[in-house]
Amino acid sequence: MHQYIDQLNEAQREPVLQKDGPMIIIAGAGSGKTRVLTIRIAYLMHQGIDAFNILSLTFTNKAAREMKNRISQIVGSGEAKNLWMGTFHSVFARILRAESDHLGYPSNFTIYDSQDSARLISSIIKEMQLDRDIYKPKQVLSRISSYKNSLITVKAYFNNPELIEADAMAKKPRLGEIYQQYVERCFKAGAMDFDDLLLKTNELLTRFPEILAKYQNRFRYILVDEYQDTNHSQYLIVRALSDRFQNICVVGDDAQSIYAFRGANINNILNFQKDYEGVKTFRLEQNYRSTRNIVEAANTIIDKNKTKLDKVVWTANDFGPKIKVHRSLTDAEEGRFVASTIFEQKMQNQLHNGAFAILYRTNAQSRAMEDALRKRDIPYRIYGGLSFYQRKEIKDVLCYLRLVINPKDEEALIRVINYPARGIGDTTIEKLTIAANHYKRSIWEVMQNVDKIDLKLNSGTKQKLADFVTMIQSFQVINENQDAFYITDHVAKKTGLVQELKKDATPEGMAKIQNIEELLNGIKDFTEGQKEIDGARGALSEFMEDVALATDLDKDTSDEDRVALMTIHLAKGLEFPHVFVVGMEEDLFPSAMSMSTRSELEEERRLFYVALTRAEHQAYLTYAQSRYRWGKLTDSEPSRFIEEIEGQYLEYLTPAESNYRYKPQIDSDIFGDVDKSKLRLAKPVAGTPPKYITNNEPKPEAVIRKLKPMGNTSSSGSTNLFDNQLVVGNVVMHERFGKGQILNLEGVGADKKAEIKFEVGGIKKLLLRFAKLEVI
Ligand code: ATP
Ligand code: MG
Repeated sequence: MHQYIDQLNEAQREPVLQKDGPMIIIAGAGSGKTRVLTIRIAYLMHQGIDAFNILSLTFTNKAAREMKNRISQIVGSGEAKNLWMGTFHSVFARILRAESDHLGYPSNFTIYDSQDSARLISSIIKEMQLDRDIYKPKQVLSRISSYKNSLITVKAYFNNPELIEADAMAKKPRLGEIYQQYVERCFKAGAMDFDDLLLKTNELLTRFPEILAKYQNRFRYILVDEYQDTNHSQYLIVRALSDRFQNICVVGDDAQSIYAFRGANINNILNFQKDYEGVKTFRLEQNYRSTRNIVEAANTIIDKNKTKLDKVVWTANDFGPKIKVHRSLTDAEEGRFVASTIFEQKMQNQLHNGAFAILYRTNAQSRAMEDALRKRDIPYRIYGGLSFYQRKEIKDVLCYLRLVINPKDEEALIRVINYPARGIGDTTIEKLTIAANHYKRSIWEVMQNVDKIDLKLNSGTKQKLADFVTMIQSFQVINENQDAFYITDHVAKKTGLVQELKKDATPEGMAKIQNIEELLNGIKDFTEGQKEIDGARGALSEFMEDVALATDLDKDTSDEDRVALMTIHLAKGLEFPHVFVVGMEEDLFPSAMSMSTRSELEEERRLFYVALTRAEHQAYLTYAQSRYRWGKLTDSEPSRFIEEIEGQYLEYLTPAESNYRYKPQIDSDIFGDVDKSKLRLAKPVAGTPPKYITNNEPKPEAVIRKLKPMGNTSSSGSTNLFDNQLVVGNVVMHERFGKGQILNLEGVGADKKAEIKFEVGGIKKLLLRFAKLEVI
């Protein structure tokens, strides 16, 4: 037996050793599902299955990379690199490129990001002269997206009176026409949007049996992580591909299904047994990630949901600290609490920034957190939001590059045809667009034929268009022989983009140039990496494929030590020693928009379960009594989810008897530059549940009492050694690290530190001001 199999417990080993046939692993958070998938792949390879025959679908490309690294360590990187691994979108984009001619697409098709799609929808709505208040572009786009994910093509739409009527009832009788226009325009531009990558794959596999057979033959073993969040379109792809060999292994947790709003269908997991014959079901019950407090608290939450599979999750880990609950007056104060806690914890326990994550329900909540972290000089990184590649200056460069690869790409063309300004005005672009729609050709093709079509353009304009065409063509020639770095550098200079940015000497302008440098650095890295691979030359098209599907989470930042900020949705599958779930307030979490039906509320509860189970050691739940929402200070109540956790798992940091302890302005005014993390209320009462105040209750006056340096008010009763009774050689007991001996003391007063050799965990340097030590 291979040694790495020993890294699994009995229950985890079974699905690994079960080589063939359909199987499902249903298990709670942190029970090792992802680990089992990883080890299973390594073991399949050791049993002689060729890496080319294994397809593994993950939730993020980052997860795929981590899995591949782990597998490389076991089987060697030469073997592992041939594995097909990635998100549905990235894997099937690759297949679509190889088979694009069957669908009438060029193999260099562009992938439109959501910005491109939204802009195109917006311009279609405008051209059709529809009311934008009724046809809101974002809503229209999400409707089209849900059609695509349910495999409702334009043709299917027009054949379905129910859908037509539903849109008419929703006062959008022309939605079908917009859908049709949108699809035609994408096709003409040689572009697919994200949903197309799945829709077209389905089309490919259903319309061309020989292609289906080819990929069925190739992917003899298919593995899917986070199966509970697959949508209908993804489900059908997996079914089709696994139909021949039926070697399909899916893992998931119904309690973590959180993407129903985007079309994920929890029934895919619930019905798996019916879809295949002789399905083996495995359950994992032991959680390795979190403390017992967290695991048990999470169990009490998910128990409140009616729709769920019965599962047991337990852990052999220590109880650990209780989940800490903190109330503050405003969202700004909430941010300060989080930042100062991170600051303290880092000092006290010698932790690095990467040990902390701040999770929120909506992206807008990150601002208050960012402000507070910046004030404390704590490095952080926001995941999600606008990704690096969507920043204006970066996207401008990328759009030129997109044109180099596919000049028919209309969204790219419209974006840069007159940026930097080259005298091609809106009227000209409009004339080109109308002609392109009329002839059912791309704008690029119209531009190449301006002499033959009567567009009523003057000769100066025609020349400018011709110059633009020549410029892009010259880039294409260079691109044939050069790598991605060379061509990008060339494009950034020759188009005048860099010169344009240099005109702006403000810090923002400088930052934009630095971003372009950063892009170039990234491309350099990519080309160098690619060149190590046999036969690859680091071509632009390969780089652009990566970029089109890169989510923010995918960026490799393992060398950066930063606090992670992200929405709970993005945090799925990840783990951190310390997790703050902020904004635990009614109408925010659960979201006001998801409380009208039981199933919506249950999805919010699953989201909370996901949030809490990201924490390994310590979870914090924080809420504010008022926060700015949509520009207005709004009162809020604590989230029902706090109340749903049994009291024994919670520790309330803010006692109930005085609901308004701090006033933020006093906080900053009185204490001036004092480090607020050293201040603490005189008598924190642990274990008191908060008083749930309603908006009508009068608010008590602010009370600030007896603030003392924190070390002197240690609530645990351990001896405070801030006053220097320690000497080198003392044997001490630390709350978390246990027994140790002092090797060295340095610094004075509040900066005094001790170097301690612990029996378990080795030598650590602790700041005495925070370290709770007892001499024994
Ligand atoms: P999630 O539902 O959140 O995706 P998961 O079920 O995929 O969780 P993993 O991420 O695979 O769980 O594992 C959780 C943690 O427990 C990881 O740090 C993993 O390395 C560790 N772990 C899993 N199984 C074992 C084991 N048998 N021994 C020690 N550690 C383990
Ligand atoms: Mg996982």
